[in-house]
Parts: sequence; C-alpha cells; structure tokens
Amino acid sequence: MSVGPRVLTGHNGQRFTFDPGSFAIELLLTGGPGAYAIWEILHEPADLARWLTTSRLTDTAPLRVEDLHITRTDLDRIREFRDCLWRAAEAVIRGDHPSGIDLTVINAAADRRPVPRLDPATLTQTWGTPVHGVQVLGAAAVDAIEVLANAPAGRLRQCSADNCQLLFVDTSRPGNRRWCSMQRCGNRAKVAAHRTRS
Ligand SMILES: [Zn+2]
Repeated sequence: MSVGPRVLTGHNGQRFTFDPGSFAIELLLTGGPGAYAIWEILHEPADLARWLTTSRLTDTAPLRVEDLHITRTDLDRIREFRDCLWRAAEAVIRGDHPSGIDLTVINAAADRRPVPRLDPATLTQTWGTPVHGVQVLGAAAVDAIEVLANAPAGRLRQCSADNCQLLFVDTSRPGNRRWCSMQRCGNRAKVAAHRTRS
C-alpha cells in the first residue's frame, strides 16, 4: 500500500496535489504557529484520528479510526511538537540554528513508536492496537529527527514561490524539485516566465 500526495485547497479555493515527502513534514499541513494557525484542522482528538487514516503512517500498515486512542493531552503535545518542527525546519532551511527549546521538544517526543505486528493469517504488517497518541507523536519525532539531520544534504526545502510557505522533502531521484506542486506554484512560475519572454 502506498499513500499518494495529499490534495490541498489553497486560499483561493484551488485544489492541488502536494507530496510532503515525509510523515513529519506531512504533519505540518495540519496547522502551525503564528500566522499558520489559520490552517489549523486538529481541533479535537477525533480530527487527528481521521487525519491519520490517510497519512503516511499508513504506508507501513493500514490504520483505521477505531485503531487509534488519542487523548486531549496527546493532541496538545502533537500540536506543540508540530509548531516546534515548523520553526526548526524553517530555521534549518534558512541556514540558521534551530532554537534549543524547539529541539528539546522534538527530541523528548521520540521515545515511543507504533508497534509493528505480523498478521498470522496474511503475513502482512499491521499495527499493534490501539495505537496511542504518544506513539503517533513518537513516529513523527523520529521522522523529524531524520529529516533535520539530513537537511544539510539540501532535500528539505520550502516551495520556491515567494508567497508559498509549504515545506517538503524532495524524494525525487534527480533532486531538483522546486515547487510544492506543479499544478499550483510550478504552473504559476511557468506562466510568469512565459509572459516575461513574450
Ligand atoms: Zn508553493
């Protein structure tokens, strides 16, 4: 099973596909600190459970709402972690050092993980259930640590469009991805370049 890109809706109502390239970076799509709060979609634990059923966690094994156990405290911690990761990732992309406080939150979250199980009947991988919120948080933190540690390789990027803040990990073979989505910013840039030429 493979999870494709997310379908997002921009401010102007345009729908476009977006591949965040990593589970932790995908989590940044659910909202964020400061001005990003307008994108918040995780208001209740159930919102997170629903979101997870189509997240990249399901690349490894399917996850249904009833497989998840997420408390209000879990949700608060995951939102706090997400906001720290936003700041840390943007700092790293700018070439700055992330704040110690943000890195402490990310590191402290990495001690629990969803537990993989082999289904005796099908010999396919499943998750040991229930999957608790802290385990989801741990999966995101472990992924975030890997993404930030590999950031010097240049694969963690912000969309090249001036007015677009979307972050992604470029998993393409040539490693030359510049845009959140060809349907959106890539296309806008192409049209602008064409206008300049003609
Ligand atoms: Zn963009």
